[in-house]
Amino acid sequence: MHPFQKVSPPEEGSPIRIENGQIVTPACPIIPFITGDGIGTDIWTATQMVLDEAVNQTYGGLRRISWFQIHAGLSALKTYGQDNVLPDDTIEAIKKYKVAIKGPLTTPVGSYPYVCLACAKEQGESIQNRPSKCEKCGSPFVTKRFRSLNVTLRQVLDLYACVRPVRWYKGVPTPVKSPERLNVIIFRENTEDVYAGIEFSYDSQEATDLIEFLEKRMHKPVRSGSGIGIKPISAFGSQRLIKKAIIYAIQHNLPSVTMVHKGNIMKFTEGAFRDWGYEMAHKEFSDKVIFESVCQARGNPDGKIILKDRIADQMFQQVLLRPDEYHVIATPNLNGDYLSDACAAQVGGLGLAPGANMGDDLALFEATHGTAPKYTGQDKANPSSLILSGVMMLEHLGWQEAADMIVKALEKTIGQKRVTYDLERQMSGATCLKTSEFAAAICENIT
Ligand code: NAD
Repeated sequence: MHPFQKVSPPEEGSPIRIENGQIVTPACPIIPFITGDGIGTDIWTATQMVLDEAVNQTYGGLRRISWFQIHAGLSALKTYGQDNVLPDDTIEAIKKYKVAIKGPLTTPVGSYPYVCLACAKEQGESIQNRPSKCEKCGSPFVTKRFRSLNVTLRQVLDLYACVRPVRWYKGVPTPVKSPERLNVIIFRENTEDVYAGIEFSYDSQEATDLIEFLEKRMHKPVRSGSGIGIKPISAFGSQRLIKKAIIYAIQHNLPSVTMVHKGNIMKFTEGAFRDWGYEMAHKEFSDKVIFESVCQARGNPDGKIILKDRIADQMFQQVLLRPDEYHVIATPNLNGDYLSDACAAQVGGLGLAPGANMGDDLALFEATHGTAPKYTGQDKANPSSLILSGVMMLEHLGWQEAADMIVKALEKTIGQKRVTYDLERQMSGATCLKTSEFAAAICENIT
């Protein structure tokens, strides 16, 4: 008997396992998927078609994915009803099968009762504004809440690393002269920093109390009437993220890892992120990693991975001026948010940017854009972001050959100027394809 209430896993296939921190992929893994809302159905159908074709062509039927549909967002409401946009079945399926993939989800706004800050935080929800009273515990410290599905998924499953590879695909229009020089993978911390949701409105009692506390107890005057946000960054959160980035560099034979921080100004949060990173790397990876300062003084005769750090504002110049000096980037939440979108724009925009949220054992691959509601059901949207997230997923499974095949076919299709509307309008002489036609063109080019 399976443990799910309203979904049933496929009979064929078996779960992926994690043994000693390593993924063990059976020949027919069961992989849960969430189609997503808005354009989700269109781009998921296209993605599944391309992934299946590549796996089939590469392994001649010896390997295949057994897909298991689970629900979140609006599709969950249909199956589970009762405001249940993130059912337990979905969480349990991702935990059991270890790897999952999802389209974009609509975050319903304002359809939930008011709860206090502590209750909202416990439920993994974002905090906004400030109404009257908590319906759950009666506390007066109340905020209007809306449920952010993506934040909840990350928190409940402890997916602490947001992983975004950024590279240029031949033929994609870009604003820079040599887009091929940028090829980085960004590890953005997902659980801390100003995203922890500890924020108080300028006119709230909490902000007034905190300002008084800072002035009287800490002797740090803050202008009255200020909104207050708190930026927690821990050694635990920083080191596990930086460790994941270093392990990625080791496994993929990449020459450097760069910690991006604003430690010159925020010494005990961003500066500490950098210091904790060096400390952990010295303890755990001294046989594989060399610090840039040591390397500059004594060279790098053993060809170790160079660990360096850059101040965030300078890094925005570096990715434009000297992009090929960077390979893996590890950075706190807010820097990572800015940097991944800026890098994506440099190689042709978010439409082609894949992503994953990863923890120690679990990985959830996803399109980085939203649900583009105005294109729902029109078979028009570009499925590349979700397809490339699928490529990341195949790499994570250890099915590199199939992943490579898709990248080659996608590049060939774009090179043939057979693209969806968003790229077609930027390319001269291109043919505008529907989502399904674009997927079929990629499949045709998988050989
Ligand atoms: P969006 O990414 O949906 O749209 C931004 C712009 O990009 C729009 O002009 C849209 O038409 C276009 N676009 C997006 N994806 C496209 C694609 N694949 N092909 C072609 N054009 C594409 O962002 P938004 O409008 O701010 O958000 C809409 C909804 O998506 C909201 O409900 C939001 O909560 C949700 N959202 C979900 C995620 C996620 O699940 N990861 C991320 C962002 C937004």
